[in-house]
Order: sequence, then structure tokens, then C-alpha cells
Amino acid sequence: MRVLIGGGSGFVGRELTRLLRKKGHEITIISRQPGPGKITWNDLEAGGLPPCEGAVNLAGENLMNPLRWWNESYKKDLFSSRIDTTRALAQAISSSPSPPRAWVLVTGVACYRPSQTAIYTEETAWTPFDLLSQLVKEWEEAGRLSDDVAMKTRQVVIRPGAVLGREGGAMKQMLVPFWLGLGGTLGSGRQPFPWIHVSDLAGMIAHALESAGPPAPEAGVALPPPEVLNGVAPVLNTNGEFTQALGRALRRPTLLPVPAFAMRALLGAERAIVLTDGQQVVPKRTLESGYQYQYPDLQSALREIVGS
Ligand code: NDP
Repeated sequence: MRVLIGGGSGFVGRELTRLLRKKGHEITIISRQPGPGKITWNDLEAGGLPPCEGAVNLAGENLMNPLRWWNESYKKDLFSSRIDTTRALAQAISSSPSPPRAWVLVTGVACYRPSQTAIYTEETAWTPFDLLSQLVKEWEEAGRLSDDVAMKTRQVVIRPGAVLGREGGAMKQMLVPFWLGLGGTLGSGRQPFPWIHVSDLAGMIAHALESAGPPAPEAGVALPPPEVLNGVAPVLNTNGEFTQALGRALRRPTLLPVPAFAMRALLGAERAIVLTDGQQVVPKRTLESGYQYQYPDLQSALREIVGS
């Protein structure tokens, strides 16, 4: 299968590219920079969709970019880097004479309101309540295909929790302080911590691409809606449990909690919410889809990441 991956040069994209190549698929990355095996977003706009059977979008300015202050310009880039690239790909698919079998958009669990009691599945209805949930709404809307193409191309939206892996995401920034014995719970530690190992997120995207048959309309609905899959591990953990498990895997103490107010001051309250609060997210449809996890619990995921 030929697969086009927007933002395929990033943390998740590199893992997905490795996996798909191992399975014998052919990858083209869409990037801001030209290079071998790549096209640019301008090429996509000018030349339309290159021939492909699958398309994925992973592009987006990093939410925890340590080199940027949390200000209006950063927030604008968080939105435009996701929404403009997603819209460009969806429009290219919609106007292609031979659209792909599957279109997979990766967004996030920020659409679900943080709570220590509510449990969210893909079937939970939600409306935006803050900046990041508004982002998810506009992002997923930008990915909707035109009605006629939606009858031919399966649309899948995967909403991951924190993506854990050695080469990027939150773990890359956490490993050094934890190694130095400076790790600790964030806030109370009781907040839920939805997470996924990067290999499982790549595995879920590959599963969605490979199992895509014709879209299945829901009974009584003329157009098939995008299928939503929660991209989280099948266990529920708190930030405190994650911190202890990481400390155990590294054989380091985790005695230095970081208070929630300090994180809000450092990161900005709108962004710190992903660390100070969290959601209990269950991958109901992901499990029903038959996806088999490689790292279904924290112990196995962290053992792989820290290599112990
Ligand atoms: P990365 O931070 O690695 O970025 C992915 C790619 O996005 C980059 O390689 C880059 O490609 C492109 N990109 C970065 N900034 C911009 C910009 N300003 N405009 C256009 N493109 C840009 O992301 P991840 O691989 O970690 O995540 C993939 C997707 O999953 C993202 O949309 C992210 O929001 C989502 N997600 C990630 C989580 C995580 O914990 N990592 C958690 C939940 C959701 P290039 O330089 O080639 O243009």
C-alpha cells in the first residue's frame, strides 16, 4: 500500500514509517521541508494528492515546545499547524479522482473534560469547554471529507493520550530529571493519566489503514461518520501511579512533587491542564476493532522505554 503521512518526520511519524516499511508499504512524507521521500505542503496544494491507498496526518506544532513562551502567537501556531495541514489533506483527498481507502487523523483526548470520576469512551458526546478542546473540535471538523468521497474513503480519527517512547514526546523531557532522582508527582498525583506507548499508537494507525474496507454507514444515517478510536492503553492510571512506575523502572526515588500552581505559572494554565488534570479514557472501540496491544500496561511500556 502507498501511504502519505503528513508530519511523518516527527516522533510518532518516525515510528509509524518504520512499522509500515517493515510491513512492505511505501511511504511518502508531507513536510515543510523538501527532501528524499518527501513532498511539501505547497507541492500538495499545487499538484494535488499523489497516488496513495492510505493517508494520515500527524503534523502539528509541539504543545510542550520548550523553546517557546506560552503566548498568543504560540497558540495561533498550535491551531494553524494542525487545522491548515488537516484541511489541506482532506481537500486534496476530496478532490482526488482516486481517493485512498483510508484517511486517518490523529488528534487528542483533550476533547474530554478532565475529571477524576467520569469515564470516557469513543461514544461519549462532548462539546468544547476550553482552548484545547476547541482545538480538537476545529481540527476534527477540518478533516471531514466531502460527502461523495466519504462514501469511498474510510475516515478514522484516533485520539491519543500522552504518547510514551524513548525518542520523543513527554518521556524525552522527563527521563533526565527522573534519572537524577529529581522526578515526582505532578500536582496531587490523583489526576488520571491517559497514555499510550508510541509503538501501539503506530500499530493502531497501521491497523486502521490495513483493515479499511468500504465505509460502513450507521443504520438510518446516509453518510458514514468518521470512526473514532481512543488511542490509549486499556488500563486506567493516575499520574501518581505513572510516577512511581517510572521511578521503579529507573530504580530512582520520586520524592519531589511539582505543585500544580508551579506548573500553571511555568506552562500557562490553558496548557498545564494536560498535566495537572486528566481524563479516564477507555479504548472501547479500539478493543472492539480487534487491535492487539504490545504494551497494555505501564510496567511493560516503561520497561521497553528505559531498557531495563
Ligand atoms: P511532533 O512534535 O514530532 O511533530 C510532528 C511533525 O509536525 C513535525 O515533524 C513537523 O514536520 C510538523 N510540524 C511541527 N510544527 C509545525 C508547524 N508549525 N506547522 C506545520 N507542521 C509542523 O508530533 P508527534 O509525532 O509527537 O505527534 C503527532 C500528532 O499527534 C500531533 O498532531 C500531536 O498533536 C498528536 N498528539 C501527540 C501526543 C504526544 O504525546 N506526542 C499526544 C496526543 C496527541 P516537518 O518539520 O517535517 O514539517
